[in-house]
Formats: sequence, C-alpha cells, structure tokens
Amino acid sequence: MSDPLENFRSEIADWIAANLPDELRGVPTTEDTICWGGRNWVFTSDAQRLWLERCAERGLTCPRWPSEYGGGGLTRGEEKALREEMTKAGAPSPLQSFGIWMLGPALLKFGTPEQKAAHLPDITAGKIRWCQGYSEPGAGSDLASVQTRAEDMGDHWLINGQKIWTSYADKADKIFALVRTDRDAPKHLGISFMLIDMQTPGVTTRPIRLISGASPFCETFFDNVKVPKEGAIVGEQNRGWDVAKYLLTHEREMIGGGGGGLTSGDTLAQMMGTLDPGTLNDPVLRAEAMELEVDAMAFALTMERYKDMSEAGQGVGHASAMLKYYGTELNKRRQEVLMSAQGSNALDWEAGSAADWLRSKANSIEGGTSEVMLDIIAKRVLELPAK
Ligand SMILES: Cc1cc2nc3c(=O)[nH]c(=O)nc-3n(C[C@H](O)[C@H](O)[C@H](O)COP(=O)(O)OP(=O)(O)OC[C@H]3O[C@@H](n4cnc5c(N)ncnc54)[C@H](O)[C@@H]3O)c2cc1C
Repeated sequence: MSDPLENFRSEIADWIAANLPDELRGVPTTEDTICWGGRNWVFTSDAQRLWLERCAERGLTCPRWPSEYGGGGLTRGEEKALREEMTKAGAPSPLQSFGIWMLGPALLKFGTPEQKAAHLPDITAGKIRWCQGYSEPGAGSDLASVQTRAEDMGDHWLINGQKIWTSYADKADKIFALVRTDRDAPKHLGISFMLIDMQTPGVTTRPIRLISGASPFCETFFDNVKVPKEGAIVGEQNRGWDVAKYLLTHEREMIGGGGGGLTSGDTLAQMMGTLDPGTLNDPVLRAEAMELEVDAMAFALTMERYKDMSEAGQGVGHASAMLKYYGTELNKRRQEVLMSAQGSNALDWEAGSAADWLRSKANSIEGGTSEVMLDIIAKRVLELPAK
C-alpha cells in the first residue's frame, strides 16, 4: 500500500484491535463511564485504566497535539481516519477533560515553553483534571465584568473573590481562572488568565444542587489565596481577555459538535428505533425526524469543512459561534422530537430521555448563550454594523 494515509489507517486499526480491552468494545459511553482522569480519579474498571494508559502512551488522547507533550502529532487527515477506525471498533473516548478541550489549546498558543512542559503532558496522560473559573454571580454573558481580584504581593498573587457554575470544581485538581489584576484599567484590559492549584489554602468549593437533583456545578471561593508568581499567568499580565476569548472559541466548537452526539453516535432514527414499535408510523413525526436527520448530516459536514479550513490545531475561530449556535439549537429540536414521540412515557426519569431533554437546554447556555452567539455571528462573522 503506497498511500501514507491508508497505511496509517491500517496501522491504527491493527493497533486498536490489539489494544482495546474487549469489555469496552461497543459499550455506549454514559455519564457514569466517562473517564475524566486526575489525581483523585477512581477508574471504573481495569479496562478503563488500561485503555487510558495505552492511548496516552500512543499519543491518542490528544491526537493533534505535538508529540513532545504527549500528543499524537497527527495530521488532520490522520485524525479523521483515527476517529473513523475508533468508531468502527466501538472504542470509547479514553479521556475527556477541560484540559484537552480548553486549557491545552490556549497553552499551546499563549503558554511559555516552561508552562507547556509543566502542564500539557499531565493533561494528555490524564494525570491532572482542570476546571474553568470564568463565570461569577455578576459576570456571565458579560464575562469581562469579573471581579475576583488578584493583588500583586511581590513574590505571589493574593486572590479574593467568587466564581459560580464551576463544573466539577470539587473534583478538579487545578483551575484556570480569570482574575482582575488592574482595577483601574478599562474592564477588558485589567484581566489576567491565571492557573491555580485547587489544593491551595483558601480555595473552597460548594456544590450547587439543582431541581433535578445532584449536579456537577459548584460555587468556588477564593479567600486570601496565595499563588506563587512563577508560571501563574498565561499570556501577558492584564491581557488575559485575549487568552479567554481564544479558549472560548475552542470550548464553543467542542460544545457545538458534542451537543448530544450530533456529529457522532446514534442517529435520531436509531434512537427512535428503540422506542415502542409503531412510533415511526406517524407521518408527521417521520417527516420531522427526517428533516432533523438531514440537518444533522449537513451540520456534521459543515463542522468538518470548518475544521479542514482551520490551521493545524488552531480551531475554527469566530465560526465556533455559528457551530455552537446551530449544533446546540439542533440538539434541542432533536430532544423535543424524541420527547413528543414518547408521549407521557418520556417523563419517566429513569429512562433517561427527560434528563437528556433538560441537558440539551443547558448546551445552549454553557460557553455562552445562544443570544450571545447570535451577537458574535452578527458582529464577527457577518461583520454587520453595530446597532
Ligand atoms: C451546563 C453548564 C456548565 C457550565 N460550566 C461552567 C464552568 O465550568 N465554568 C464557568 O465559569 N461557567 C460555567 N457555566 C456558566 C455559563 O458560562 C453561563 O451560564 C453563561 O455564560 C451565561 O451566563 P449567566 O448564567 O450569568 O446568564 P446571564 O448572562 O445573566 O444571561 C441571562 C439571559 O440574558 C441573556 N443575555 C445576556 N446578555 C445579553 C445580550 N448582550 N444580548 C442578548 N441577550 C443577553 C442571555 O442570553 C440569557 O438568556 C456553565 C453553564 C452551564 C449551563
């Protein structure tokens, strides 16, 4: 075989066949079986641990990152082939993490060589779990209003303030946070992007309970937290807004593509096929499902096209707002159809549909709401004049 991409495909298919533990093959990933890694991670099985270790060793937890940091150094074409072969073999994702989706890309672009060497290998190996300290009670959509303060104390920063909606803060080892380092500067120009160990004295978390029961959300408090200066700030001091925005484009791309498995996993038809026989006999529902499937296919192709167009590892830039908006709104439509197809059975909490339906609403809020995405699309993608 002379085509290098086909050589890669066959090599990786052999590797997966030899290394994927049988008990993980074809088992759908659920909230309970995701591997998040981190200092305190308890593997659900030996197979989960082995799969992570083997993939990390081969650079497959972050296929496109440079191999010097534990990535796979793959080209875009190789990454696609890898994804296809993983799907064919029924392999679960070996590791999911905010480090992979968000912090890593920001460090690759803005980090010093020392910061990259200190953090990226721990992310690719699943050794350190990160959480995101962006939102505050008065700074959600208007994120640049963050008030958590970092005072320069010579050899360290002194942090005081509060974050909210910090997903999995109680399980994370470290947090990447936006802090105000200059209170006199215009709001976008006084923010720094800081890395803080959650074990530092003065950092506490409090889980937030939702109406649906337990949740991953926490409030995170910083009470006279001393952060050694060395390596704490990513990018320039007071210019953390640039890092924050870049990270958000990666977060939005990830959420847009991941919205309920729209670009991977089961199709709506497959999901509906598991419902009571006869559900798909309703012509109106069939038409609606068909329209959604076509939209989902077009969306998946659009996503691939943007990724093809983007620079290696750089993400899709402002187009991430379009992908997030469309992907999450589409997922909401899909969940609505699944709910209506099931009638009152859909309200059975244990069956799972109601939880997925509610979760789809959160997709269009996290990482920036749909209204905010529309604003970005108008300004940055369509370049419409301000009102
Ligand atoms: C599942 C989930 C996970 C999350 N995880 C994290 C996390 O790990 N870390 C973290 O820091 N944050 C996290 N968040 C918080 C999330 O980023 C915020 O909820 C989001 O940015 C919106 O902010 P807000 O909740 O303060 O709403 P607000 O900003 O108060 O918005 C309220 C409403 O007003 C609308 N609105 C606000 N401004 C405008 C405008 N200019 N134009 C039009 N409409 C507007 C919004 O669209 C929304 O409908 C998470 C949220 C969710 C749902």
